[in-house]
Amino acid sequence: MDRPSRTGSPLFPDPFQDLVDLFRRLPGIGTKTATRLAFHLLQSPDSERQDLATSLSSMKERLRPCADCRNIVAAPPPEDSSPPLCSICLDPARDSTILIVVEDIQTLYSIEKSGEFRGRYHVLEGRLSPLEGVDPAMLRVRELLRRLENPEVREVVLATSPTTEGEATALYLSRLVKPLGIRVSRIAFGIPVGLELEYVDEVTLMRAVEGRHPF
Ligand SMILES: [Zn+2]
Repeated sequence: MDRPSRTGSPLFPDPFQDLVDLFRRLPGIGTKTATRLAFHLLQSPDSERQDLATSLSSMKERLRPCADCRNIVAAPPPEDSSPPLCSICLDPARDSTILIVVEDIQTLYSIEKSGEFRGRYHVLEGRLSPLEGVDPAMLRVRELLRRLENPEVREVVLATSPTTEGEATALYLSRLVKPLGIRVSRIAFGIPVGLELEYVDEVTLMRAVEGRHPF
């Protein structure tokens, strides 16, 4: 295994240190948490380690992207050849007239957890980034336009991040979608709830004022 270089002699024996290093590669996990997780697993029953290993190694093959929105969905049994659809796309109670475009599946689930949105989703699988060489052909733009051929869709909400790349992506999409006669909106950006206004930076404050709504 290619291991990041460590200074001095390693504290732990290799088989343990390898696991700590693997955990440290995960987002939000520092050395302390990585070490705690590794000790936890060391002291766990074999079955717990086995369940974790099985779940990790089979995760990809047990999941499929939703054929409509690219959300994740459990892989259908081999005899089922119909395109896999996620529970949101299958739900007849969802509003088919409104489609919200997000960069990734995590954002889909964040919006879903808020319980505020009852329409359908479209996951772009990234955002435009000339620096990282991401162009429109690498995102699910063509698939979005295909979905917009459905005359039911009346509004597209652009929920890309409020970063330079996210804004560029939103602008790019709005120029494609508006000529189709479909309403395009952008999610509002603003102040985190519970934060004193004096601590909010000027750009965020400006965006919040722009995104004001009747009260
Ligand atoms: Zn779906």
